[in-house]
Amino acid sequence: MRFGVHMGLKGGFGANVKRVAEIGCETVQIFPGNPTGWKMGKLDEREIAKRVALLDEAGLHPLVIHSAYLINLATSSGEFLVKSKQLLNQTMERAALYGAPFVVLHTGNHGGQGVEKGMAQVIESINEGLEAWPEEVMLLLENTAGSGTALGARFEELGEILRSFEKGKLGICIDTAHSWAAGHDLGSAEAVEKTLAHLDKAVGLEHLKTIHVNDTKVKLGARVDRHAHIGEGAISPEGFGALLNYGWPEDLPVILETPENGTDWDRVNLEALLKLVR
Ligand SMILES: [Zn+2]
Repeated sequence: MRFGVHMGLKGGFGANVKRVAEIGCETVQIFPGNPTGWKMGKLDEREIAKRVALLDEAGLHPLVIHSAYLINLATSSGEFLVKSKQLLNQTMERAALYGAPFVVLHTGNHGGQGVEKGMAQVIESINEGLEAWPEEVMLLLENTAGSGTALGARFEELGEILRSFEKGKLGICIDTAHSWAAGHDLGSAEAVEKTLAHLDKAVGLEHLKTIHVNDTKVKLGARVDRHAHIGEGAISPEGFGALLNYGWPEDLPVILETPENGTDWDRVNLEALLKLVR
């Protein structure tokens, strides 16, 4: 495992790299552009090269790119689908410029057109995308809390999408707060074992390429996405400990997306996690 945080860019890229390296991060996740808009924003290749050099010098790798929240491959709106595919294409291209091996994408909201239709549309859109995307960047579908019409709260849905493609073309990212909210218990060592066995059966643990490690104050199965500081939520230290000590690959990025990312809370949360690692 390599531990890191979602790194905001407020105050400049270099200053943030320095900050996260100082608190002991070994990897980071960033947005490739505006996280809440349809426009990626221009960034010249020289600036990206400079950023890549800064990440290298700080030993931050692998870089994980989190795609914009607006992208929804399951949308019932034809217009949003076109925009979603365009922005996802741009995101994959930018990830390649950064040398980032992973782009995380929320599975999508079917918006009332139904799970079956939404799933088919996600699969079709990824199929189209795979022809254009840089081969060295892997799309990771993130599990969701299952609010509203969100797909991907059930591990079986992630598995169905993955199995629609050649092995190794897609991966998954599991978010602990989303898992908990979707009813996947992580509150004890026994619960973690059961949840991971479920994930292994439905998807295959070898496809898990990033973990988002967040606590949450919502009740198990509440279907609400609300992140909390490690140790301040419902997922116990015993649960986090069991998850972290499962025996993951050495280079698996474990990313904090806890509240107030970019402040001293990053250090507090990182220390709380590291204390649990044997
Ligand atoms: Zn997440």
